Amino acid sequence: MNDEGFYGCTSCGEEIVVPLDLIAGSQQEYVDDCPVCCHPNVIHVEIDGAGDVRVWVTRKERVDRRKGLASCRRRRSTY
Ligand SMILES: [Zn+2]
Repeated sequence: MNDEGFYGCTSCGEEIVVPLDLIAGSQQEYVDDCPVCCHPNVIHVEIDGAGDVRVWVTRKERVDRRKGLASCRRRRSTY
């Protein structure tokens, strides 16, 4: 079972490994801050009936740079 995914950061291009929570649902979307440049990326995870996982990323718009990047912490929010 493949329980890791990859995405390319939309800001710095770094390839990031993300752990996948396969029981969280076949369609997932959450925000993950890039561990390299702290840019928030919106991660999309799709798991089909055969267990194949597709991961892709879209850029999160409207980043507030004034208060954002310096206080970067590795955090994850699910919604
Ligand atoms: Zn980055």
